Amino acid sequence: MKIEAHLDGPLFQNAVQTLEEAAKIINCDPNVLERLKRPRRCVTVSVPVRMDDYSVKVFTGYRVQYNATLGPFKGGIRFHQNVDLPEVVGLAALMTFKNSVLGLPLGGAKGGVCVEPGKLSRTEKQNLTRRYTSELSHFIGPTKDIPAPDVGTDPQIMAWMMDTYSQEQGGYSQPGVVTGKPIEIGGSLGRNHATGLGVVYVAEQAFEKKGLPMKGSRIVIQGFGNVGSFAALFAFERGAKIVAVSDVSGAIFNGDGLNIPELIEFVKANKTIKGFPKTVSLTNEELLELDCEALFPCALENQIDTHNADRIKAKIIVEGANGPITNAATKLLSARGVFIVPDVIANGGGVIVSYFEWVQDIMSFFWNEDEVNGRLKTIITKAFDLSFKFHQEKKIDMRNAAMACAIQRLEKAMLLRGLYPR
Ligand code: NAD
Repeated sequence: MKIEAHLDGPLFQNAVQTLEEAAKIINCDPNVLERLKRPRRCVTVSVPVRMDDYSVKVFTGYRVQYNATLGPFKGGIRFHQNVDLPEVVGLAALMTFKNSVLGLPLGGAKGGVCVEPGKLSRTEKQNLTRRYTSELSHFIGPTKDIPAPDVGTDPQIMAWMMDTYSQEQGGYSQPGVVTGKPIEIGGSLGRNHATGLGVVYVAEQAFEKKGLPMKGSRIVIQGFGNVGSFAALFAFERGAKIVAVSDVSGAIFNGDGLNIPELIEFVKANKTIKGFPKTVSLTNEELLELDCEALFPCALENQIDTHNADRIKAKIIVEGANGPITNAATKLLSARGVFIVPDVIANGGGVIVSYFEWVQDIMSFFWNEDEVNGRLKTIITKAFDLSFKFHQEKKIDMRNAAMACAIQRLEKAMLLRGLYPR
């Protein structure tokens, strides 16, 4: 059967392959499996934007609502020049399985606009965000679908989305429509660093399972944005040696370990890691292949595939980014004994604290940062333990184990709701 173009992206095909493998392991109902292989709804919108020179540019935006069996749709919004429908479908599927394995009462979705955000002025970015939100206003809402930040979007963009949606609801403030907002308008303490902290919580588990100490270990991090920089900071605070990091400009290396708090200040001032003192420059390709105990890919998808998998020397890989390792590469690495914590668990910290933010907004009752961090640790550790048990019992890699846990929960819910009787 011919695969429709929007279902033919590499990220989505990877997810479907993992889904099929995991379905066999848990003997998943074939009707449930068939449903889980398709998104519920794909929305494509044209987004006309008044530019600073008074011309109008029309961008293309998407929102894919993949599955809502467990609760309202939830997933980030990406502003990036490579955004297209197949990529958004793949990311929305990942959100569905992530929210399920994490035990959250949420479905999965993802959105994005094909745009290079660095080329827009602040006004243009605001115009784009507001029009994109208006175009989607019938599809999103605190009980329907709750967007959040992803690559190229931030708390300011969430604030504009929340404001636009609230204006369209008669001007009543609707903080629960998006998460990742600034604290002043209903954001949660701990949200900004949540994904990076979650990466380090599960990395601690992985080090323990491998019988390695995190303190003094060499860690390499690809990407130094929200996820990568906070993961670096929390690992640094635990005594790990962050020997190399990278961003879109390339990589920097120091065998004695980088001073991460100083590097964060440097990046705030210079907008790049390039030129940080006492470092050697490397390419992103070289960074991935460095000798180290752990590698955290925290940039974009498909960074490790069959071309470079053989050259990866890390013993542990924690997927801070979504889909950084292809399935074929996962199999090669796992066969060599590399322990991979898959994205659906590893970067779950963001959506877990987004869930907390949504709960706090609905209750209008806010928690302190220790409560947020503590609850985050409980949820992400539970998901790790559940998948690790499956990984050991069934002798499968952690990616398949996490997926098996995810679809087991979805299957139970679908059957209980009577959607797909045997
Ligand atoms: P970000 O935009 O803040 O940072 C991305 C970083 O990657 C930047 O340092 C950028 O320079 C770098 N980068 C871009 N292209 C690169 C390349 N080709 N090689 C090396 N580095 C490159 O984005 P983020 O929020 O940190 O997200 C990173 C990844 O984590 C994405 O896959 C995203 O979907 C995933 N993620 C993010 C969150 C979150 O809460 N922010 C939650 C879950 C998953």
